[in-house]
Amino acid sequence: MKTLKRFVLVGAPASGKGTQSSFLSETYDLKPLSTGALLRAEVAAGSELGLEAKKYMDAAQFVPDDVVNGIVTQWLGSNRNCGCLLDGYPRTVAQAQTLDANLAELGLAVDIVVYLNVSPELIEARMLRRKACPKCGETTRNGEELCPKCGTPMIVRTDDNPEAFAKRRRDYETLTLPVVEHYREQGKVVQIDVVEEGEPETVSARIEAAIKAYAEA
Ligand code: AMP
Repeated sequence: MKTLKRFVLVGAPASGKGTQSSFLSETYDLKPLSTGALLRAEVAAGSELGLEAKKYMDAAQFVPDDVVNGIVTQWLGSNRNCGCLLDGYPRTVAQAQTLDANLAELGLAVDIVVYLNVSPELIEARMLRRKACPKCGETTRNGEELCPKCGTPMIVRTDDNPEAFAKRRRDYETLTLPVVEHYREQGKVVQIDVVEEGEPETVSARIEAAIKAYAEA
């Protein structure tokens, strides 16, 4: 039985990664690190790091590897004993190599990579239905016209406009999918193929079963 403490979650934009990240953290008692959420918090706080990151985020570009690696290395150093879930990192093979080297220095390694492989057709259909409330920040999945929480007319998320989304998707395919191959070579990838729309709980149950099989193999 493998001990699984360091998880990486990989999935395309709108693949349901956020929902499954919550599921994994709760089920396996993992401390999550979402680099996207952390960077957004830095931007909101107006920190030096946030100001630097904002330039790239506004242009739907990846923040440079050295900036992101710095944040994650610091975080890992102070969380070396916890089970953890990296969400949105590593996003390039260079980041994966840095992560592997940093963990090795601590005598640790990535234990498992959960790869949510959602078909492009499904992602496109989802994106068109994904809306956000400009007032309270509520997000919905079913194209609601009005916010279910505060009644404000809903809008499409700024980073979900077709051009920005297409760019994020392209970057994911060219830069992030090679990360999956990097870890596949290490025999650490658990792949969940999703081709039909369904309940997030169904995907969670499949992930849980696949992790169990991986741990016992
Ligand atoms: P996310 O919420 O994961 O989609 O991330 C939002 C934005 O933060 C991305 O579009 C990138 O600009 C930036 N970002 C998050 N994680 C990384 C990473 N590992 N490497 C580079 N940029 C990142």
